[in-house]
Amino acid sequence: MEIQGKVASGGKALGVIYEVASRSAAIDESTGHGKEESVRLYAALEQAKQALEVLAEEARERVGDGDGDIFLIHRLLLEDEDYLAAAERSLAEGHTAEYALESAKNHVMKLLTATGDALLIARCDDIRDISRRVARYLSKSEEEVYPDHAFLYLAEDITPSEVLALDKTACVGIVLKAGSLRSHAAILATAMALPMLVEARGISQVGGLTALLDGERGCMIVSPSDAEQKAFLAWCEEKRHLEEKLAAFCDVSFSYPSGRRLTVAANVGSLAECERALKAGAEGVGLFRSEFLFMETPAMPSEEEQFQIYRRLVELTSPHRAVIRTLDIGADKMPSWFSMAKETNPALGLRGIRLSLQHKELFLPQLRALLRASAYGNLVILLPMVTSVSEVRAVRALLDELREGLLASGVTVGHYTLGVMIETPAAALIARRLCEEVRYFSIGSNDLTQYTLALDRENPRLSASEDPRHEAVLRLISETVAAAHEYGVTVALCGELAGDRALIEWLLSLEIDVLSLSASRLLAVKERVADFLQITEKDEI
Ligand code: PEP
Ligand code: MG
Repeated sequence: MEIQGKVASGGKALGVIYEVASRSAAIDESTGHGKEESVRLYAALEQAKQALEVLAEEARERVGDGDGDIFLIHRLLLEDEDYLAAAERSLAEGHTAEYALESAKNHVMKLLTATGDALLIARCDDIRDISRRVARYLSKSEEEVYPDHAFLYLAEDITPSEVLALDKTACVGIVLKAGSLRSHAAILATAMALPMLVEARGISQVGGLTALLDGERGCMIVSPSDAEQKAFLAWCEEKRHLEEKLAAFCDVSFSYPSGRRLTVAANVGSLAECERALKAGAEGVGLFRSEFLFMETPAMPSEEEQFQIYRRLVELTSPHRAVIRTLDIGADKMPSWFSMAKETNPALGLRGIRLSLQHKELFLPQLRALLRASAYGNLVILLPMVTSVSEVRAVRALLDELREGLLASGVTVGHYTLGVMIETPAAALIARRLCEEVRYFSIGSNDLTQYTLALDRENPRLSASEDPRHEAVLRLISETVAAAHEYGVTVALCGELAGDRALIEWLLSLEIDVLSLSASRLLAVKERVADFLQITEKDEI
């Protein structure tokens, strides 16, 4: 039997299906004993808060700061006014603590659903998770006992804390009958390298059977044939071989015959990804898309929250560079908590640095957090969607003013480099002018292609015509690199083109300083670079 689903985390896994019973047991609606029920509920809420603090700490140690924050957010949700008020109302009507908890959960989920906003609706998972946790303390029920051999977790849905708990078990994959691709649970599963399938409908009576989760094809094969199991073992073997072969390039660094160094760095969106990338051989972070920190949170992260993340990133990558790009929202990247008037041409609208300069309430806390983090390593502050020198000067003025303020209040600010993304033809064409303003360029070939060829990168009908190797794009890249080198500015390529094995020889002929790409393609690119460049011994770096 083959069950189709959507891939929330890739990979393949073979195990026995462990079916987790649905926990929607009927809640006793009977009347409670007023004060007694209130004391029970608040005691359980308190226990849940304490447990979440411990989980946040554990998650931070295991998968990085960003993911630990999920539990801190859950802890805050337990103090949500709407949630507590609904519980209070139910208690006042004389219901049990369990019933009041269920009412609070349903009330907040209804509010979230009524917004019609997909991201807010996905937050219902978090409300379910915290309520389930409190219910456990109310009933003092036992935690799940998982098999001690390889198993696939099958359930209607899963909460982030349940995913994290699986890390200590023999779980090899997760299959959900419901679930969502954008949930925090999916983010954690990816960070923990657990394949995960969501929306796998039509499964029944499969507990205890062996199954193969295929996170490449997006299906689960129940009772796979001998041939299918053999093919899976062959896939594991092939994956191991490839990893072994490429592992040889993990610690390898390169130099051009001229003596110039080539850095192969990673594009990441979270601390967990950064840690994995560094283990996979990245020489620092060439692009941290900071907007990804802002997309999933219920509100904009505070200056302090951002500082903690940037500081950790800079510490992790040191002595290599941590290139942190300032907020690049607008167009397709819009956090749920930020509302903006609809634009006719969002890709040509208020986005990247334009949006940041118009929304100082977002930009200033980010710049302050970055300045504070600069004291901990080798930081580059990178500006997205730049089209003119005046934008760079405006940011420089803000940075200087904020720096003064921080220093005056006794906060240490370190050395940092200001950089710009070269992702508009305008920026490429005024590269020499920009060299007088900054010391770091990062060519964003994804947007540079979109804007040079006048091809909306989000339009599926145009994807066939999109050609990042178009001679106009390549010419803008080569002229940008030449300008940068003339002025001694470090120049990187961080768009998808950096992972294009067929173009590597050409990019190396330009003596580009940095290639920054997704960690999963890093070693394959290093293997290709080794065909052309000399390997530099580690102690020469
Ligand atoms: C780019 O445009 O090439 C780039 C790296 O930025 P993003 O893909 O995040 O727009
Ligand atoms: Mg871009």
